[in-house]
Amino acid sequence: MRRAALSVVTAIVVASALAAQEPAAPGGRGGRGRAAQQIKSGEECPPGTTLVRVGQCQSPEWPAPSIVDYRPTSTLVVDEHPVPRAKFPVVDIHSHTGPTMESVGRLIGEMDGLNIRVLNNLSGGYGAELKQKVDFNRSTKFPNRFTVFANGLNGFRDVEAGYGRKAAAQLEEDVRAGAIGFKIFKQTGMDTLKKDGTRLKINDPELAPLWETAARLNIPVIIHTGEPQEFFQQPTLHNERWLELALFADRRQYLNKNVTFEQLVAERDDLFKKHPKTRFIAAHFGWHANNLGRAAKLLDEHPNVVLELAAILYDLGRQPRAGHNFFVKYQDRVLFGKDTYAPAEFPYYWRVLETTDEYFDYYRDYHAFWNLYGMGLPDAVLRKVYYQNALRVTPGLPQSGW
Ligand SMILES: [Zn+2]
Repeated sequence: MRRAALSVVTAIVVASALAAQEPAAPGGRGGRGRAAQQIKSGEECPPGTTLVRVGQCQSPEWPAPSIVDYRPTSTLVVDEHPVPRAKFPVVDIHSHTGPTMESVGRLIGEMDGLNIRVLNNLSGGYGAELKQKVDFNRSTKFPNRFTVFANGLNGFRDVEAGYGRKAAAQLEEDVRAGAIGFKIFKQTGMDTLKKDGTRLKINDPELAPLWETAARLNIPVIIHTGEPQEFFQQPTLHNERWLELALFADRRQYLNKNVTFEQLVAERDDLFKKHPKTRFIAAHFGWHANNLGRAAKLLDEHPNVVLELAAILYDLGRQPRAGHNFFVKYQDRVLFGKDTYAPAEFPYYWRVLETTDEYFDYYRDYHAFWNLYGMGLPDAVLRKVYYQNALRVTPGLPQSGW
């Protein structure tokens, strides 16, 4: 009783601190606060109010904190099994980090602690830049720990007749220099313009020599298409990514007049279909992790495609049972990737994949306003997701010692 009274006082103090310009919050304990407003069935509560009874909305007596300030502490007491180190060695197929003279020792220490065996840098560039990166990796004491994918000639800018052949020749040279795959960044297909000023579609026939060359050289193509579909929607208060859109101007695809999410996906799928001999890795689950039925359809229709799970952990962690079933069914079709190299963040991935922990904290509020649950994948599936699928899809990875 005493404790409850104390926490009411605390809440009042916090609320007043959050809105110092407001008069002190009323401290009364009687009654039910403000009068309720009636709504009709099917109607939403007006802004500033919340449903308190069927058909009745009420505003809080204290000024409501903003979504960045409201950070409730969960009182759930339940078994916890943090996983600082992955159970099996990991290939991070989707990284943008490679070693430098200064960082290599630190990186290896961190990777060993997390059990990351190979960090694959997708930002290899092409030509001299790519060769320099590969040569540096090979010059370190850890040549098997760092690998590189090549990128498109001239960043796919100003594509015109003849580009495809030139870019394919460049890719061939880059693979000879040591690239083990090819990466397409999200701008390509979405924003990058051709020489004639039109948007370069990812299924443009001019690019066909690239995909055919990747197939002949037996290297995978990892493709980041689009963005989460909510980025293409107006940032209303119903948009799951409102905060992220409010934080980062470069994610506001709803302002992009050139293309929609569905167009991008259709062009990508057409690319997959037209080049069945080319192995594609759809980065970020193809942005279908919020709709695993759609992800399954993508895999069923395109045997040449696998998925990679970077930056969609919040979607897996909110559907642990559907996620578990998907990973078991498609255990040969998912690769591990993280995108941002941040040693503190990897353990959240291990925990979602390995444990059956419930309702645990996620590290990035702007991705998700919810907590995560573990999928509890069996060891055989974990091994495939962590490294075996990557080794099969990317023959240029170090194949021995696993
Ligand atoms: Zn990336």
